[in-house]
Amino acid sequence: MPELRKDPIVGRWVIISVERGKRPSDFVSPSQRKKGGFCPFCPGNEYTTPPEIMAFRPPGSPGNSPGWTLRVMPNKFPALQIYGDLGKTGEGIFDKMNGIGAHEVIVETPDHNLSLATIPAKAAEDVLWACYYRMTDLRKDERFKYVLVFKNEGEAAGATLEHTHTQIIALPIIPKLVKEELDAAKRHYEFKERCIFCDVINQELESGKRLIYENAGYVAIAPFAPRAPFETWILPKKHESMFTAPDKSFSELAEILQRILRQFDRILDTPPYNFVIHTSPFHDGVNDYYHWHIELVPKLTKIAGFEWGSGFYINPTPPEESAKFMREAKI
Ligand SMILES: [Zn+2]
Ligand SMILES: [Zn+2]
Repeated sequence: MPELRKDPIVGRWVIISVERGKRPSDFVSPSQRKKGGFCPFCPGNEYTTPPEIMAFRPPGSPGNSPGWTLRVMPNKFPALQIYGDLGKTGEGIFDKMNGIGAHEVIVETPDHNLSLATIPAKAAEDVLWACYYRMTDLRKDERFKYVLVFKNEGEAAGATLEHTHTQIIALPIIPKLVKEELDAAKRHYEFKERCIFCDVINQELESGKRLIYENAGYVAIAPFAPRAPFETWILPKKHESMFTAPDKSFSELAEILQRILRQFDRILDTPPYNFVIHTSPFHDGVNDYYHWHIELVPKLTKIAGFEWGSGFYINPTPPEESAKFMREAKI
């Protein structure tokens, strides 16, 4: 029997179609072959991108020239514009505002042939530091309410350039999905005086059924009601509402993140994937109800009419099975 499962946080229902139980090999994922051609993110081509906002490079090495190990610059084709005011207006019953925001790109490595899964551990840590610094900086802009860090890897996941990179978008609003999680977390906290994410983590660590991996500071789980096969969440084990909390160390987070990505690569043949960092909005600050985390989804199934029309996902792989495949992946 297929099973209807409700996500305990936002209350989103999904369909786990158990009897179709797909194994990793059943997903034909177009392998990410590097196609070559001109790459604006490769060293030597710095002049083709907007000037860098920050970079990790040896002391004395001039900006916008080779020698960097990581580079952050504005997106050449931004989804939102950085200059101007919000211009909130009404038009009859409708509300609107200008498309103000920041859209930045983190080039994770100068090496065109590596990925976030295969760059050295120190480089993966640096990517997280770059996210941290940029989020902290963008927070100072009072027009912004939220900063979303996300990654599209592979064409099917929305990447237009194959050189590995992560994106950052600062928004004048809180995105709907984050708002849903936040409101639900607040309700749970009011009712139980506990963080719902902490409750989920405790239960998953205890049962081990959907546990993929843990290190000292973090845990990776297949959520109880995943929208897609191999959906994976990484959460700090100790309650922490903001990704940008002070006294941060990123070595353990980099380790678990790279491990999950290598497990994807191993069992799903280097699939296209997306990830997002969900953190407490600026306005909520440090709090007891929200728990920041990373959500990762390999792009194995297509969003079709039913999902689009209902917000209701059909998932052919139960999370207990995907967690088992991930645990057993030899990396
Ligand atoms: Zn490149
Ligand atoms: Zn928590």
